[in-house]
Amino acid sequence: MNYANLKDSYLFYGIAQKTKAYQKANPDKHLYRMGIGDVSLPLAPTVIEALHRGVDDQANKATFNGYMPECGADFLREAIAGYYKKRGIDIAVDEAFVSSGASDELGDILDIFGHGKKVMIMEPAYPAYLDASIIAGNEIIHVESGKENGFLPLPEDAGAADVDLIYLCSPNNPTGAVFGKDKLKKWVDYANRQSAIILFDAAYEAFIEEEDVPHSIFEIEGARTCAIEICSLSKTAGFTGTRCGYTIIPKELERNGMNLNAMWVRNRTSKTNGVSYIIQRGAAAVFTEEGQKQIKENIQVYKQNGKNLMAALDRAGVWYTGGKNAPYIWMKCPKEMGSWEFFDLILNEIQVIGTPGEGFGKCGEGYFRFSTFGDPQDTLKAAEMLEKLIKEL
Ligand code: PLP
Repeated sequence: MNYANLKDSYLFYGIAQKTKAYQKANPDKHLYRMGIGDVSLPLAPTVIEALHRGVDDQANKATFNGYMPECGADFLREAIAGYYKKRGIDIAVDEAFVSSGASDELGDILDIFGHGKKVMIMEPAYPAYLDASIIAGNEIIHVESGKENGFLPLPEDAGAADVDLIYLCSPNNPTGAVFGKDKLKKWVDYANRQSAIILFDAAYEAFIEEEDVPHSIFEIEGARTCAIEICSLSKTAGFTGTRCGYTIIPKELERNGMNLNAMWVRNRTSKTNGVSYIIQRGAAAVFTEEGQKQIKENIQVYKQNGKNLMAALDRAGVWYTGGKNAPYIWMKCPKEMGSWEFFDLILNEIQVIGTPGEGFGKCGEGYFRFSTFGDPQDTLKAAEMLEKLIKEL
């Protein structure tokens, strides 16, 4: 019956309906799509080569693979641990679990905590945290954020105690805001004090460009006794349609005398037969020197989109977060407009499509999200048109 407590999400359906109706009435108009969080560039050549080699391996008796290890192939787990090592973080190979993506893990991980837990969710939020927690029969504690705290709520804003789980996302979707080390340390200390577990969503870590912004919660002292990190190759390496991610569970992590790493091994060995060999070969190529170089080139294209948009919003005097260390820009709607009102305005006037903030929860009212994953030329043109329109309002 937990499913009866889920709210229907009309957000992307609503956007699609309005866009379709507009396009039908104006078939000759080009639409500038900056709403969706899906990538537009193809996989890196090194990844493609590795995928092809993986297919060839499956064609030969000598190199063929059947079921893969449930927690991931050693070659990929080692590559993930090596990726952390390069950043000065010690992660053991058996602390890295290969997954089919972060969305799966953000919900599935709740398995090891049982039902009726108190789960803290920062608003506005990526919808999967809320839905997965409701499905698991948990109690939700919403923590509001806003312009006054730069959409980065701290434990003192939370005003609740005795929580079991805390979802944190940095760089954030939808706001693009990032926790610096000091702020993240406050969350780590808070979680350790009350024996809560932080589920840290680092799906956008590869977009961080500022030196002192942590890419991983394990850069923070004390995180190994209170955090699980959930990562994805979707946005980092264009794997949205290829599907692969990884989850880090330190061996120190214990609650009620139970070891969470061991529990997750037990869970995976019962509930999955592993990620496809071919996909894991492609994923391992992401962590090679050449792979890292090539994925960074793609990320730079999205970053340039962000720069063009931010420059236009700066010139138009608009308040926003994100863009710098994240592929999202979260702006305050001009003239106190509602987020759907602004959606309609820019669709009708300049054919630009974004995402109304209120679709991410109450705190998103009056805000608007642009994704920087779109076509570069479209994004540049959309930025120019947005600047002009906002200045004329
Ligand atoms: N976490 C956040 C914050 C996201 O925005 C997304 C996708 O948009 C995901 C996780 C899902 O990632 P994956 O494609 O690996 O399931």
